[in-house]
Amino acid sequence: MPDPRTTPSDEPVQPTEAVQPAEDALPDEVEPAGPPSASEAPEASAPEPSEAEAPAPEPSEAEAPAPEASAPGASVPDASPADAPAPVRRRRWPIVVISILGVLLLGAGAVAGWLYVQLGDASDRIVEQNQELEEQRELIEKKEVFGAAMTRLHEGVVPLEGLPFTALADWERYQSIATSGWFHRWDADALDTDIARAEQAAEQLESLHAAAAAEAATNASGSAWEATLDRLGRGYVTTRIERGDTPCGAEALACVSSNEPTIVRVSAGQDAAESMTDWLRTGVAYHEFAHTLQNLNPEAGEAAAQAFGGDYETMADCYSLTFLDGWTLDHEIWTSDTTYWEVSIGYGYTCTESQRQVIRDWNAQLPVVIQPITQDGSGRAAS
Ligand SMILES: [Zn+2]
Repeated sequence: MPDPRTTPSDEPVQPTEAVQPAEDALPDEVEPAGPPSASEAPEASAPEPSEAEAPAPEPSEAEAPAPEASAPGASVPDASPADAPAPVRRRRWPIVVISILGVLLLGAGAVAGWLYVQLGDASDRIVEQNQELEEQRELIEKKEVFGAAMTRLHEGVVPLEGLPFTALADWERYQSIATSGWFHRWDADALDTDIARAEQAAEQLESLHAAAAAEAATNASGSAWEATLDRLGRGYVTTRIERGDTPCGAEALACVSSNEPTIVRVSAGQDAAESMTDWLRTGVAYHEFAHTLQNLNPEAGEAAAQAFGGDYETMADCYSLTFLDGWTLDHEIWTSDTTYWEVSIGYGYTCTESQRQVIRDWNAQLPVVIQPITQDGSGRAAS
């Protein structure tokens, strides 16, 4: 096997080493050849002839197989290692690029998916937070409405201050509403119930005051009964002169029921008797008003009644005797210059001075005193 490097130069089988130097060296090799002949000038003026002699090796990719065919053993070691790998690598580029693109796309997809999940979670949290904010906003509004209702309730009870009707100010009820509102401060639905309770209590007080104002402003019956009771009761006591059946029994002139303590009923038939006078009506109105006070201040009334042996009637008579100057239980009602009626009012017992002092002391403790309504039992006023 001859050494390819020693192969004669006219052999076309030395592509690589012959070609590579040919491109760089041929011009130099041509010039030392001396002035060309006329016939040789066309070929010597340019290196093409030399390159023409060695074009075979130039297109190494296209004509590489040729040398292998003539001298496979010699050309393969030089030509193949240099040229063959290049095409192979070029063919792999798309695969690598595609692979990289694929990885990038997968990565991008994963990032997009992660971002989507993150955005989804964030969106859910925003929705939850918005719901919480909305609930808190609703709760705050409910608390404000409840506070306004309690303020209205408090304002509703103020007109009773100083009046002898402690039962008309239901402090236990108002405190219960305030306490419920405190316990339900985080429960919007339960607060609705408390708000309704407070508003209902306030409306009842407002209606009571409106009715009292109207009652005190007019004397619908035009009677001494109503005139006296409007003055004593400031309009909170209603006078009803009832005709027909006797509302208070066969003999009673007037009466007050414990079920309706602010209503004084007068028997129209008894009231029409010849012996009746406005003075008598006035004194009896005081007696009936005492019954109203007994019913609207039950604890104090029970204590004071002890001074009368527990008798609420003699106690009521004593109220008239104490506060109506000149009042007595026995009267002479003259119907002419020569005739008169002897009229006994009440229950036949004229109370002593000490009993009258009990009545004064009792009456002094009746006026309504505004009490603080606390929210949580801490003593802090609700409004
Ligand atoms: Zn009576």
